[in-house]
Amino acid sequence: MPPCLASKTKKLTDHKTKPNMPVFTIPRIQQGNIKVPSHRLAKIEIDDIEITGYSVAGEETVVAVPQLNVCFDIGKAPDQVISIDNLLLTHGHMDHTAGIAYYLSHRNFSGQTPGTVLAPQELLEPIQQIIDAHGILDGNPIPANLVAVRPGGEYRIKPNIFARAFATPHSRNSVGYTLIEKRKKLKPEYTKLTGPQIVELKKQGIEIDYPLEIPLVTYCGDTEPGDFTKLEFVMNSKILITECTFYTKDHISRAKAGKHTHLNDLPDLMRNSKNQCIVLIHISQRTGIGFARKMLKKVLAAEQLDRIIFLMEHNKRRR
Ligand SMILES: [Zn+2]
Repeated sequence: MPPCLASKTKKLTDHKTKPNMPVFTIPRIQQGNIKVPSHRLAKIEIDDIEITGYSVAGEETVVAVPQLNVCFDIGKAPDQVISIDNLLLTHGHMDHTAGIAYYLSHRNFSGQTPGTVLAPQELLEPIQQIIDAHGILDGNPIPANLVAVRPGGEYRIKPNIFARAFATPHSRNSVGYTLIEKRKKLKPEYTKLTGPQIVELKKQGIEIDYPLEIPLVTYCGDTEPGDFTKLEFVMNSKILITECTFYTKDHISRAKAGKHTHLNDLPDLMRNSKNQCIVLIHISQRTGIGFARKMLKKVLAAEQLDRIIFLMEHNKRRR
């Protein structure tokens, strides 16, 4: 018997005579029925939008909005995001892109359509090289649909949902994305009309509605604050997912050097923010969420604190 199993068995045996000892259980895995996911992902519900993912500085970052069929960055490709069709990459750093080939290959292996990968233009060639190299290693080519994005560009995700890219000051050509719902709304002067009256106006070719944009979720990836904080669709987005990596005075220069957000940057960001909820990501294991919250209290007002949530606090629900 392997030593690791032996030690667990010993503790189980000990438990019979020592009731206060913790009980260790070994998951029973039946052949063909392995259901242990590769990652334990955080999950947050904000009204009707679910955000799930994992983001720890220096380890990996992957954040998904399953109902909108979008995954921002891919980290090490957790099982739970493989079936999401649209992968939106912000920049090329390893902790955000390591799982790209696995994501695409596993979709192919399990009979799914090739994933659509949006990424800054300059990343497409190296991404293709990685995919090709893995195809050679694996013995099977890996299909992919790579799409170049530029700041200001819009990309259809669903018939009424678009991803709009914006520039972020982190690495060369890095971008963030806002998922925008586009609707048509009846002009106020026609709201009291009956159905048949509206049909009649339409027959006459009269424009009775106007386009409405609802920014739902913005994901900034890694970045320091920049011009994107002046974009209305970013600061009005219902949910803003952004990073805050550093929390102490002696880390100000590290934040600047790596072009990351520091605690001291948050008051300005929060002043411009009309977001219902701000989800902070990319905290380090060393900092810890308890310490980060304590530091946030020193620089933010109570109303601002109320709108902040850390992704890595599992299973929080906001209404
Ligand atoms: Zn980065």
